[in-house]
Amino acid sequence: MSGPVFERMALIGVGLIGASLSLAAQRHGLVGEVVGCARTADTREKAEQLGICARSTADPAEAVREADLVMICTPVGAYAGIAEAIAPALRRGAIVSDVGSVKQATIRDVGPVLPDGVHFVPGHPVAGTEKSGPEAGFAELFAQRWTILTPPPGTDTRAVERVTRLWTGCGAMVEEMDAGHHDRVLAMTSHLPHLIAYTIVSTAADLEPGEMREVVKFSAGGFRDFTRIAASDPIMWRDIFLNNKDAVLEVLQRFNEDITALQRAIRWGEGDFLEDRFRRTRELRHEVVQAHQAGSFDPREPDVTPSTPAERALAGQAAPDPGTPGPRGS
Ligand code: NAP
Repeated sequence: MSGPVFERMALIGVGLIGASLSLAAQRHGLVGEVVGCARTADTREKAEQLGICARSTADPAEAVREADLVMICTPVGAYAGIAEAIAPALRRGAIVSDVGSVKQATIRDVGPVLPDGVHFVPGHPVAGTEKSGPEAGFAELFAQRWTILTPPPGTDTRAVERVTRLWTGCGAMVEEMDAGHHDRVLAMTSHLPHLIAYTIVSTAADLEPGEMREVVKFSAGGFRDFTRIAASDPIMWRDIFLNNKDAVLEVLQRFNEDITALQRAIRWGEGDFLEDRFRRTRELRHEVVQAHQAGSFDPREPDVTPSTPAERALAGQAAPDPGTPGPRGS
């Protein structure tokens, strides 16, 4: 068996994504020692206890010393300060990568600060849950999910290849993309849905208390799926919207036009228009299922679970144990 892809990985940020990457990389023998970095003692202690890192520090410069891979796994708003702090301590030939959900801002904030002889391979695993912190991490998070790499033109191809090996070794599929293109695609697939969820749940939160209690009681009507998304980390999402402003505003404009069209159709009783739209959206859902990107956000749970006894019988499955959580969505 060949050795690890990286001898020492410095993880700046050991929350959901950093912890999951470390657990997956260690499980598959892709990294040697892992050194963690987080601001709070509580996070660092948990990360060590859970085996996410062998040792940890609050000082990013100390964490990256002698590392051949530095993986930045904090909210993107912290990147500029972290890049400045680690730059003087980076070893020649080291690779700096990240997992941030926005890529142009990453390149803007980190790229110019790195010294010559250090390779920069920005990345984004398109996988996650609404949970945060080291204890939320699990090694299976990236299985059958895409990781997008956005190396700036001229990046050392061997550095890109090593980062690719890390992610594929963790079960991910890897695609390279221009950073601007990444930000436009993710504005649609991730940032807009989160903005909509935050809005719907805020609207409900502003209802008067009696109505609000009914919303919680009957949330299985669809609202509960939005509450899961809207429970995502506020700092992380603040930073995403502030750092992908143009692409989010562009897609939000299109969304507003489409919702106005639906509003008009409802007002004027245009059933054919509504039916046509809803048929198209159902087809898109089918494509997502076919692409194995549907089902639970947690790959440890089944991908797409037949939900009714008849569907289970057709799929040749026994009835689930009492207490087994049902499929997500209503
Ligand atoms: P998280 O669970 O909240 O963890 C964030 C980690 O960063 C914590 O260990 C935190 O330590 C540390 N941290 C925050 N600010 C720091 C600073 N200035 N210096 C050093 N450490 C700092 O966050 P996450 O969900 O893993 O997200 C991390 C990154 O992954 C974000 O850039 C996000 O855009 C990206 N991402 C997230 C998801 C998702 O679904 N969550 C999916 C794909 C990509 P303390 O606890 O000590 O503050």
